[in-house]
Amino acid sequence: MSVEEVWRGLGLPGIVDVHTHFMPQRVLDKVQAYFAGADAYLGFPWPISHGNDAQEHVRELRGFGVVLFTSMIYPHKPDMAAWLNEWAREFAAATPDCALTATFFPEESAREYVQDALERNTRVFKAHLQVGQYDPRDPLLDPVWGMIADAGVPVVTHCGLGPVPGRFTGAGPMTEVLVRHPRLKIVVAHMGLPGYGDFLDLAGRFPDVYLDTTMAFTRFTEKAWPFPSAELPRLLDKQDRILFGSDFPNIPYDYAEAVDALVRLDLGDDWLRAVLYGNGVQLLRPTAP
Ligand SMILES: [Zn+2]
Repeated sequence: MSVEEVWRGLGLPGIVDVHTHFMPQRVLDKVQAYFAGADAYLGFPWPISHGNDAQEHVRELRGFGVVLFTSMIYPHKPDMAAWLNEWAREFAAATPDCALTATFFPEESAREYVQDALERNTRVFKAHLQVGQYDPRDPLLDPVWGMIADAGVPVVTHCGLGPVPGRFTGAGPMTEVLVRHPRLKIVVAHMGLPGYGDFLDLAGRFPDVYLDTTMAFTRFTEKAWPFPSAELPRLLDKQDRILFGSDFPNIPYDYAEAVDALVRLDLGDDWLRAVLYGNGVQLLRPTAP
């Protein structure tokens, strides 16, 4: 089925994709080069077929019927986040269907530029613990998590052990952050793969923990990191906490496969409507259409 056939069949106005990557060109080129070398560190290839032209990516998303998306940016070193945030502001200003996105790193200046991002009405943050290789419990981040929690803005957090583990990935460190900031809105990227159960547990423990479906359930991912069928009923149970994400454009398959993978789960039309649209609108509002 085409992406459009899926959302039209559900009576939706389109879909919301909470996890798409738009970033400065040289950063995107570096990220794509990393995936081009996947054979060496994963043992299987990660062929990206969507090219590296951001404007073309925006047109493609709109063509699929994506009405709201994000520009997931993330620093891998200090003194980079503020620059990425500035880039994302310009991108969102020129791209009204992109929710204003920001990021941070454990550094002295984080407090100030995160405050600035919140004042500018940032709708979503991205934290990448594997690429950033930082400890989310770093004392420099404590006031940052606190400010973001108070503002009720979600943070899409790559904290799972896949595709390769990081020093501070896995449910442990983020659980400690949530114990300190229990109302922090975290969106666990990739359903926390491969530790799906651990992160569903986390969503059970904290009412503001969400999970995005990015890359999960696709044929590509099921080969390497299968979702345990015994956990399927928990996806229904957490219907209001699961959000569609794609990782577009850095995916080794067609965009339609990301949507089809959810349809194949066979969890019902209400579940699909919530995951593909309703939950995303709710979380990223008020810029939602
Ligand atoms: Zn991603």
